[in-house]
Amino acid sequence: MARALITGITGQDGRYLAELLHSKGYEVFGLVKGQSNPRAELVQQELPFVEVVSADLQDLTSLISAVEQTQPDEVYNLAAISFVALSFKQAELTSNVTGLGVLRMLEAIRMAGGSTNNPIRFYQASSSEMFGKVRETPQRETTPFYPRSPYGVAKVFGHDITVNYRDSYHLYACSGILFNHESPRRGLEFVTRKITNAVARIKLGLQDTLALGDLEPRRDWGFAGDYVQAMWQMLQQDEPDDYVIATGRTHRVRDFVHAAFAHAGIEDWEKHVTQDPRFFRPAEVDLLVGDASKAHEKLGWKPEVEFAELVAMMVDHDLEVEARKAGRQ
Ligand code: GDP
Repeated sequence: MARALITGITGQDGRYLAELLHSKGYEVFGLVKGQSNPRAELVQQELPFVEVVSADLQDLTSLISAVEQTQPDEVYNLAAISFVALSFKQAELTSNVTGLGVLRMLEAIRMAGGSTNNPIRFYQASSSEMFGKVRETPQRETTPFYPRSPYGVAKVFGHDITVNYRDSYHLYACSGILFNHESPRRGLEFVTRKITNAVARIKLGLQDTLALGDLEPRRDWGFAGDYVQAMWQMLQQDEPDDYVIATGRTHRVRDFVHAAFAHAGIEDWEKHVTQDPRFFRPAEVDLLVGDASKAHEKLGWKPEVEFAELVAMMVDHDLEVEARKAGRQ
């Protein structure tokens, strides 16, 4: 039975990936930080097959212990301070967790993990935010990075150190440069889920308005369930490599807003949306659109869920959840 260790098991991608690996017969271990972390309990309820291991990306010794204890064949590093807006407010913490955390995980693998015959394979969750103020369009594996937030800067470090450890120590280490990927499990702080949740509540008469920041930025939004497939595929190749994972289509935030309201049957969305300076960022990433042809050619990967389908899936989910919650009150 193959064994996988996932950092960030309580997040959106961690949960989709855990389900995927479980369905493939893996034994799945999930790193959880902190003392009586409430999100760990949720993971145990939702994914009872996951064995929870206590460790923190800020604590190298705990990572070494986790690797020794679980003896994984594959490590997926999905944990991070992942919200761009928060990274501006807590830049040092973001650098430590999202950036240096990758180095610590790689060191733990190097120090504690894997025999020469059976070395641990490592996946790093790199991000399209590394492209920031984009140098070319669409963005691909060779596009130079120009991060626009402490989060983006930390992800560039994580990406580069992964490449460096692959080159220096012949680790089987891959970076997936994933463009934005969403789902009903997306955190409410991210714009897509914030919108679909508000649309559901407005539809149900539970709230009137939705306050947003800049409506003009464009993002390449895919479905998280499709994207975790690519993570796994990267670790099953003969040679480690880096891959862009994206849909190749881009939409403005306002397009997402419009599509979400329209799906709920509300046409006059402008009446419900206000703009609030609190949600603007010190520096913005205006346009992201990825070219995933390398992943398509080498991994045979392609996204299944289209933009309209993704919006509908998220709105329908939030309508159901919010109606259930309102019914209980
Ligand atoms: P990001 O691409 O990782 O920053 O993902 P987000 O979902 O947090 O943001 C996507 C885009 O939506 C960014 O360009 C944000 O500036 C923009 N945006 C506009 N209003 C909001 C808002 O109220 N919340 C968030 N999270 N983003 C917003």
